Amino acid sequence: MQDIPTFGERLENVRERIAGACSRAGRNPEEVQLVAVSKGFGPEDVREAYSLGLAAFGESKVQEARAKIPECPEGISWHLIGHLQSNKIKHAVRLFDVVHSVDSIKLLDQLDEACDVAGRIMRVFLEVNVSGEKSKFGMNPDQAAEVVAAALNCSRLEPVGLMTMAPLADKPEKARGYFRKLRELRDKWNSDFDVALNGLSMGMTNDFEVAIEEGATLVRIGTALFDGST
Ligand SMILES: *Cc1c(COP(=O)(O)O)cnc(C)c1O
Repeated sequence: MQDIPTFGERLENVRERIAGACSRAGRNPEEVQLVAVSKGFGPEDVREAYSLGLAAFGESKVQEARAKIPECPEGISWHLIGHLQSNKIKHAVRLFDVVHSVDSIKLLDQLDEACDVAGRIMRVFLEVNVSGEKSKFGMNPDQAAEVVAAALNCSRLEPVGLMTMAPLADKPEKARGYFRKLRELRDKWNSDFDVALNGLSMGMTNDFEVAIEEGATLVRIGTALFDGST
């Protein structure tokens, strides 16, 4: 039986794969931020990852984050990557530095107002349901013009880019078309709105290399880092 790799070894492997994808795409690895998705793992795992140089962590659920974040080192940048319910917005504003899941004008307005009350600015990604799967959150690309315009009007929100999740698939290559579509939407909206929503939050354990080849500026990786069994 092979030894289970240490966290440090898994991190090194992920970093090498990021570098490899960047090199294939002629990109600088510094353009790709690694967010370690710690959902389902505890503060001790976060501490170990932090001690090895990871500084940005992602959580899917506000409830889980509320219990975990106070037990974690200060100085971490916390990203909310899961759906945000209205009744959790106040907590989210207190806990997170970036929200990746903004997908409606209603949520934009509520988040903007909560940030105003808290006296802070929040960076947001606008989540797009590129695949059109009914089970997925995210705005339909056709509704986007309205949502992008609204986001640009929120005084307490700083829209930094777009986020998507590709459908589950047996091969990473199947995600490529969805990632490419998100990049094309970004380029179109940037020119239509004369803005620079340059961020592309896309790519997870199963498909991050393809996402980087298609322009991801931020990958959200959980399993490949934290799950010793894979
Ligand atoms: C869980 C999750 C991830 C990380 O997924 P892995 O396959 O474990 O890397 C990334 N993004 C979102 C939105 C998630 O919910």
